[in-house]
Amino acid sequence: MSELVVCKFGGSSVASATQIEKVRKIVTEDPLRRIVVVSAPGRIDPKEQKLTDHLINIATDGAHFRDQRVTINSAQSKQAVVTRFERIVEDLGIHGDEIVSELRRDLDCDLRGDRRVAFLASRGEHYNARLIAAYFEKCGTKARARLPEEFGFTVNSEYLDARLLPISYENIASLPEDDAVVVVPGFYGVTEGGDIAVFSRGGSDLTGSEIAYAVDASRYENWTDVSGVFEADPRLIKKAQAIPRLTFKEIRLLSSKGFNVFHLNAMLPCRQRKIPIHIRNTNRPEDQGTLILSERVPEEGVVGIARLDNVAYIYMQKDQLGEEIGFTAELLRIFQDFGIQTYHYPTDKDDIAVVVNQQDLTGTINDLRRRIEQKLKPDFMDVVYNLSILTPVGMGLKGNSYPMVAALSALGDAHIPIEMVDLSPSQICFHIGVQYAVGDAALQILYDTLIG
Ligand code: ASP
Repeated sequence: MSELVVCKFGGSSVASATQIEKVRKIVTEDPLRRIVVVSAPGRIDPKEQKLTDHLINIATDGAHFRDQRVTINSAQSKQAVVTRFERIVEDLGIHGDEIVSELRRDLDCDLRGDRRVAFLASRGEHYNARLIAAYFEKCGTKARARLPEEFGFTVNSEYLDARLLPISYENIASLPEDDAVVVVPGFYGVTEGGDIAVFSRGGSDLTGSEIAYAVDASRYENWTDVSGVFEADPRLIKKAQAIPRLTFKEIRLLSSKGFNVFHLNAMLPCRQRKIPIHIRNTNRPEDQGTLILSERVPEEGVVGIARLDNVAYIYMQKDQLGEEIGFTAELLRIFQDFGIQTYHYPTDKDDIAVVVNQQDLTGTINDLRRRIEQKLKPDFMDVVYNLSILTPVGMGLKGNSYPMVAALSALGDAHIPIEMVDLSPSQICFHIGVQYAVGDAALQILYDTLIG
């Protein structure tokens, strides 16, 4: 293990000169913070579009926003991107004219298809890293921007959902410098053919995590605009607090069911090398944040409750389906053919239900039903929409059924109808499905019973 700390700063942490100065202070406070991964500048106003979306809009000649019924054409996006970077340069007080001219040239590139989208989408991170390194230097903090296209952060050619290739690890291991902070743009890499390819959205987390893995960092700090992972959505549960310590297993379960702090796959490299991930707030660096670790002592019961809305389940009944070998496999294959991801499929002797994201049924539900009827001939089939799945998570739930009993009985006392219950095979979480209309009330009851 090396002593150094890899820090990743998300879009809101690097959205403006004021935010970038906060980043500089944080980085210089600890001499172990030697590698800094940055996102593209985030939104200043929550109503505006993200810079990366503007870049994708330029790449798709306005189709990206048109699909979302947003009326911003590609020329307007170009203007928004250039103005944004010019403003950052001016507010940072650096000599950035050359960099902004290069940005303008990049925006006029004549690449085609996914290569074009990936290249342009990466420019937010690329230019932000260069400006941030220049600002650090101006302030007397020795810094160097190291770009994926130069040091060989090599990824496969899935242009819009790239994966890092193991040959990169050696190149990354040579990144740390004795006398300078290294600033690396997140979110993209370079293919063996020399093209730019990006990770999935939010992928700067992945860059940071892969770098932490390759240099065997002592800690991976993920700086954002919240003070950690909260026990439940703080917009709904006023008393919810940041969870001080979580295991990798717990954060993956919470993230897969609606918690949205950290890229789901970014845990994996750190988990493999047992590198703690520390989620912290750039605007409140004094807050303790959330540490994500391999193990947690004590293994408290429920640490957090996730909530996933817009869930539907397709229920079917057929005598003896539980004994019909291949029935479930065939059913799941049909969902696979329709490209629909299945969350759960509780089953019994004569019944089965498949829980899915309701949006995935838009435009396909009639064909899906017809196919199921033709292939599996159920006696009865029904689709229940607008469910919310509430998922209490905690290592201490293993072999301890008391919290599940308490949760169900508290919901029963409040006359909240339960549509579905499912204990995870890991036994460290369980899922309760309720109608969306009572989701807020159910979450509050579960919080009060299991955590608060
Ligand atoms: N800027 C990219 C996005 O908006 C990547 C990131 O922020 O992590 O998805």
